Amino acid sequence: MSEIAHATITFEGYFARDLPEMAIPWRAEEAPDPQLLMLNEALAVELGLDPVLLQGPEGIRLLIGNAIPEDSSPVAQAYSGHQFGWYSPRLGDGRALLLGEIAGADGRLRDVHLKGSGRTPFARNGDGQAVVGPMLREYIVSESMHALGIPTTRSLAVVATGRPVQRETLLPGAVLTRVASSHLRVGSFQYARATNDMDLLRRLADHAIERHHPSSEAEANRYLGLLQDVISVQAKLVAQWMLIGFVHGVMNTDNMTISGETIDYGPCAFMEGFDPGAVYSSIDETGRYAYRNQPLVAEWNLARFAESIAPLIHEDEEQAVTLAVEALNGFREQYSATWFNGMRAKLGLPEVIDDGVASPLVDDLLELVQESRADYTSFFQSLSKAARGEVEPARRMILDLAAFDAWLERWQAVTPDADAMDRVNPIYIPRNHLVEEALTAATEGDMGPTERLIEAVASPYSERPGLEKYAAPAPESFGPYRTFCGT
Ligand code: AMP
Ligand code: MG
Repeated sequence: MSEIAHATITFEGYFARDLPEMAIPWRAEEAPDPQLLMLNEALAVELGLDPVLLQGPEGIRLLIGNAIPEDSSPVAQAYSGHQFGWYSPRLGDGRALLLGEIAGADGRLRDVHLKGSGRTPFARNGDGQAVVGPMLREYIVSESMHALGIPTTRSLAVVATGRPVQRETLLPGAVLTRVASSHLRVGSFQYARATNDMDLLRRLADHAIERHHPSSEAEANRYLGLLQDVISVQAKLVAQWMLIGFVHGVMNTDNMTISGETIDYGPCAFMEGFDPGAVYSSIDETGRYAYRNQPLVAEWNLARFAESIAPLIHEDEEQAVTLAVEALNGFREQYSATWFNGMRAKLGLPEVIDDGVASPLVDDLLELVQESRADYTSFFQSLSKAARGEVEPARRMILDLAAFDAWLERWQAVTPDADAMDRVNPIYIPRNHLVEEALTAATEGDMGPTERLIEAVASPYSERPGLEKYAAPAPESFGPYRTFCGT
């Protein structure tokens, strides 16, 4: 039992209390030699935890669920999911645990969750383990997303367990301590719906409304309100991914949250050369989760969510379907509005601008960038230089110069705002080759590259001398990038 746990932390058990049918009480596996690799001190403070205590031996054991407050009850959460379109009725936390919810310094409730904490009853053939590389990858990318202003789960810590884990080779094991608004997923609702237990489904929906969409509570049809809210937060989320060039890579329904936060950074990647068909995941053979498909997939996943809660929306099936379809029709409009507004900002166009001027400016530019396979992130950087009169860096990235010069003339005529562009076009993103370099070093025991990369991406919009390498695309020698559903 841990002094520090008692002194500083209470894990609530709201999920376990409200939804016992979906929560299996379970304990994290004991780590033989836990070593703290990363601690997110700022996030610890936000949660009301003392970073100094967390770095001590008992604090580290608390972070991986080996020393928890006496009255807390960690659980493995049940969920279902469509994986690459195929329905699995029973997924659940195979190697993860919800330690409980914690009310942070601001009073907002957040989940503290472990990934890589050992086998649970949902483990199927899995070993319940996670390894250092992929857990640090989630830490790096989720913290980058947060700094970019994109809703995401957060990473509090990565602790090496001291246990070797068999993958293709023997790798060092690790646990990620993750913080999220909740871990409710579309797959959680699919699970509840599949039980045919309407009371369970209703409790799950009420729990979700209370945590994420309290505004629906006052509505005449609160479950329709929940559906509309989830559609809205997801439409906005995916639009933000598209604007930043993020490819999630495994948008299964169990990896789509009800809160609207990005979750589960597995085979994800930031696109370099602009290619709408970009796919990085080695297991995504058909390109189901390619960059350009992400809004369509989100809409498809939301239809699965709508089906799951349909019986709550209306007792008459036909009427439920009519209402759900109407709500789903709102996805495209909200997605497009967020995306277009974001593109307008990326191009430095004034907030009030005729659609007939702005739309072709956006479309024509993207066509030129695509045809040139220009590096997505650096291109927008060079475009703000062009807004300041220095057009050569942008011209160097485009193949059809006659067309681009004509475009520049039309664009300059609307006086783009370079400072506004700098506020939305990042300089530092987690470049794939740098992530790989950092993870390789960390696996060999050198945390330096990971720490420096995180420092760069933690302030993505402010240019700093000495960080040039973090702003540059991968060298040719890096070759085409493939990610593996790193487990
Ligand atoms: P993910 O691809 O991380 O979203 O995981 C999909 C499902 O597989 C979830 O139910 C996970 O808990 C489970 N899973 C993934 N890796 C493992 C593992 N090494 N051991 C047990 N379960 C796992
Ligand atoms: Mg998952």
